[in-house]
Amino acid sequence: MAENKGILVIGELAGGKLASITTELLGCGRKLADELKEDLSCLLIGDSVGEASKEAIAFGADKVYVAEHAALKDYQADSYMQAAEKVINDVSPRTVLMGQTSMGRDLAPRLAFRLGTTLTTDCLDLAIDPQTKLLTQTRPVYGGTAQAVFTSEITPQMVTVRTKAMSPLERDDSRKGETIPVKIDIDASKVRTKILETVKEEAVGIKLEDAPVIVCGGRGLGGPEPFQTTLKELADLLHGAVGASRPPADNGWVPEALHIGLTGKIVAPDIYIAVAVSGASQHTAGCTGSKHIIAINKDPEANIFREAEFGVVGKYEEVVPALTNKLKELLAA
Ligand SMILES: Cc1cc2nc3c(=O)[nH]c(=O)nc-3n(C[C@H](O)[C@H](O)[C@H](O)COP(=O)(O)OP(=O)(O)OC[C@H]3O[C@@H](n4cnc5c(N)ncnc54)[C@H](O)[C@@H]3O)c2cc1C
Repeated sequence: MAENKGILVIGELAGGKLASITTELLGCGRKLADELKEDLSCLLIGDSVGEASKEAIAFGADKVYVAEHAALKDYQADSYMQAAEKVINDVSPRTVLMGQTSMGRDLAPRLAFRLGTTLTTDCLDLAIDPQTKLLTQTRPVYGGTAQAVFTSEITPQMVTVRTKAMSPLERDDSRKGETIPVKIDIDASKVRTKILETVKEEAVGIKLEDAPVIVCGGRGLGGPEPFQTTLKELADLLHGAVGASRPPADNGWVPEALHIGLTGKIVAPDIYIAVAVSGASQHTAGCTGSKHIIAINKDPEANIFREAEFGVVGKYEEVVPALTNKLKELLAA
């Protein structure tokens, strides 16, 4: 078997374009590949990958493997695994990078098992050990209260990377790279599930993951109404989005899609305003990538103040409207 070399990103598509996690993985993969003086490849799987292969080159890939087949229209573990396994066996990469996304969480462990290798999930940082050339993989442990560094001597080294943990390169359409079509035969007898229906989540306003400002409410808001009034008014003023800790989502005060944290969305906005959120580690695991955290809480001992750059101790019923009014005044000036 060929020596394992190079970095392979297993990409994801969203609406015919590269998903943002894939541009982030390419940005990180480029740095690792340059350090190793090896190639960065990207695998794109679908029924019609279109222009996304050019996009992958513009975002840093040297080679793009395109696995197209009618049976690969939508993500489906058994069929995507056949394509990914074939390409990994053909290319023999040193490292395989995937996103800590719905697809990555499902596909990566299956692939690692098939390939007889290890997998480190939910990584926040990756680096090359200069002595051993092994990949060092940093991920949160104990519910986000600590970080541990892992490595594995078995190749390919497989990791999934948390969304927004890495930065994409500037898109450069003048970059040169190679697009390599891969012939895939999908064995339909190995595809054990089928998609009966796809229900699109209704998105109202700006998506949490894309919002530059998030106003996040916690259990201390006491019910659904403040999310739709007090918090929404502040979020709208800042062209941001409303989010929530887990209890409001569990209680049905807000849709599940707004839930931030270890078991919810991972966000990294410019400004994160946590209102009546205590700051449990399972919550902060989803927002510590934010550039600036501002906390509003009536309890001066609340853990969220340890994470926050700015804090106001007070009842949200008084603090949030005062902040909104002041902002309105400043914006009108
Ligand atoms: C396996 C596991 C996974 C989990 N995953 C997640 C996750 O992904 N996301 C998540 O959020 N949680 C998660 N949790 C739950 C987590 O441990 C906490 O219970 C949760 O984050 C607490 O939410 P909270 O801060 O909104 O509520 P609380 O901890 O009840 O805090 C409410 C806060 O509001 C303040 N407050 C009350 N009234 C007011 C007022 N009028 N004005 C100002 N402040 C006020 C209080 O002082 C308090 O600090 C998980 C737990 C487990 C075990």
